[in-house]
This record gives sequence, C-alpha cells and structure tokens, in this order.
Amino acid sequence: MTTTLLTGIGSLVTNDPTLGDLSPLGVVADAALVIDGDGTVAWAGPAAGAPAADTAHDAGGRACVPGFVDSHSHLVFAGDRTADFHARMSGRPYSAGGIRTTVAATRAASDEELEANLTRYLGEALRQGTTTFETKSGYGLTVEDEARALRIAARHTDEVTFLGAHVVSPEHTDDPAAYVDLVTGPMLDACAPHARWVDVFCEKGAFDADQARAVLTAGMGRGLVPRVHANQLSFGPGVQLAVELGAASADHCTHLTDADVDALANGSTVATLLPGAEFSTRARWPDARRLLDAGATVALSTDCNPGSSFTSSMPFCIALAVRDMGMTPDEALWSATAGGAAALRRTDVGRLAPGARADLVLLDAPSHVHLAYRPGVPLAREVWRAGRRLV
Ligand SMILES: [Zn+2]
Repeated sequence: MTTTLLTGIGSLVTNDPTLGDLSPLGVVADAALVIDGDGTVAWAGPAAGAPAADTAHDAGGRACVPGFVDSHSHLVFAGDRTADFHARMSGRPYSAGGIRTTVAATRAASDEELEANLTRYLGEALRQGTTTFETKSGYGLTVEDEARALRIAARHTDEVTFLGAHVVSPEHTDDPAAYVDLVTGPMLDACAPHARWVDVFCEKGAFDADQARAVLTAGMGRGLVPRVHANQLSFGPGVQLAVELGAASADHCTHLTDADVDALANGSTVATLLPGAEFSTRARWPDARRLLDAGATVALSTDCNPGSSFTSSMPFCIALAVRDMGMTPDEALWSATAGGAAALRRTDVGRLAPGARADLVLLDAPSHVHLAYRPGVPLAREVWRAGRRLV
C-alpha cells in the first residue's frame, strides 16, 4: 500500500473549516495532502507540517479543489436535439414535451450505443473535474427500456435514479393514470433493484402533486430514496412535496414562493440549482442568494441532458451561478462539491479531509476563484479519483 504526498499546492480547498482558514471552504495556503494506499485522504494541511510518504507528486503551485459532485444528470440517451435548441434560440419556448423526441431515439438504440454515449459524456465530465455523478433513466418509459437504462448506468456509478415518471409515455397520453399505475407497479418492480433513488418531474405537462406523491411513495416502499424535479418551469407543489417526504433534494427550484424557501430552509432537503437549464432555455435564473440567505443548503449541478441543458461542465455552472444567481465564488464552489455530496447524502466525497476519498482537481490557476473569473477556460490540469490520477 503506497502512500503519496501531493506537495506544492498553492491553495487547497478542503471544505473542512477545522483544517484551514475557518471559512466553509477550509482553505489552506502552501498546502500538502497525503493520499493513503486505499485511495483516501490520510492527511491535509500546511506543507511545512506534512508527514513523510512513499512517493511525492508536485502540484507546481496550482490550486487544488475537491472533485466536483454532479448530483443531477440524464446521460442514458440516444439521438440529437440540436434542432430543438436552434429553434428555441430562434424564439420558440421550451416545453416538457420535447423529452419524447429523445425517448423515440433511445428506444431505438442498442445497449452498446447507449453505453458508448454515456461513456463519452462521462469522459467529458471527468476531464472538467467531475469525479462523482448521479444519472437517471427517463428516456425509455417502458418497463424494459427503463430497466436497461438503469442497468447500464449502474455499471458506471452507484448514484442511479429511477425516473420512469419523467413524462407520460407516448402510449399513455390519453390515460396518464394508467401510466402512473405502470410506473408504480411493474416498472418499479423491474427498476428498483438497479437504483438507489426515485425521482419524478412534478410540473404542468408532466406529473401533478397527487401523481408525484404516488410515484415517490411507491419508490420509498421499495427502499428507494426520493428526489424531485421541482418548480422548474412554473410555481407548483414539487418543493413542498419533496420536503414533506424527506427527499434528499429538490432540483431546479427556479420558481419559489416564500413558503417554498422557508420549507427548504427548515427541512433536510437540499435545493439543487441547475443553471445550465436556464442558460439553454433562456429562462429566468433560480435565486441562489435568496435560498442561501434563508439558510437552505444549496447544490449546483449540470442537469446534463440533450434537450434542456447539454453541458457536462461543472465549472461552467459555477461561473453562471456567480455571474447571474447571486452566489459568491466560494459559495458556488462549495455547492458544486460539498453541496452535491449533501444532495446525494454522501460524506466520503466533496471534501478533502482525512478519511474522505482522494478525489481532487488541480487547477491551472493560483486560486479556486478562477473557476468563475475565467469562464469557459479548461482549467482542470489534473483530475484524481480515489487517489489515482485519471487526467
Ligand atoms: Zn433533470
């Protein structure tokens, strides 16, 4: 079991206030990190106090941040939605129905095509610093197509979400109640063994409060933990339902009443903001400042999907959150790392403290602030996961 000393870190973000400057980011200047042979962090702190290790690696004065935790993506799909985006950017509004275009292409694709697609976007995300990701079904909408999406996803991550209730399937447009029965019955039976989470798109044009409740409680009855697509396109019941059911996360949170903000601030549900969706649909931004000032826990994620947010870049989301959603650069980085971990109820990722998985990004920059200060620039120079350098 070889230990590795990472030296020459100009600025280390640990997300552990006790290790650094007592801010939430726990920043240590002129730092070092020791990685254990099992891929976890053994030690983090000022370089001058670093213990000896078997091998050493020089970070060259770069900033080091925890690997990004992307807690919301839709990466098991086939097909192309370029024409949708082109039309939308030429004046047509986004509606939830566009999902059915991707459903048709996904059903027609082979397992190999779906997995090759997934692998390609995961590689893209990794090269930009994402070391933990969640992904969902939701483009199959039949028992077999949903189950195979989850089987494929589970080969690449533990954070797999059953989203059979993405939209009503094309076969059930005249009878949504029958589709909810399918999702909460045979589809759940086939999907639950492959998933950790259950999700529903609670929105006009998708599923109403009663339908969403039925889907989530059925999933919970099978041991899945709820998360909810809530309050994205309009005000609605999603956030309140998520908090009431103890969901790990309410995702989007773009249209919130004061009561919604209070519920998130006082409950255990993380508010996950997905600015790539607002960017790609020219929609109004979620108000991160309002949530943070109320005391809610906020995560940032890509929502990477072919229809409404086709970016795999967490740094891009950080830049949007800082520029347009009222977050400070420190808050945005915390939300993209520790916040994402909280949204996945993980304590082993999203921080660089003893015992955590050694997932880290060395930035071609002296400070993490450059993630927002230099938008669109590929700053991830090295990416390590579980103590192994992958990029
Ligand atoms: Zn989504």
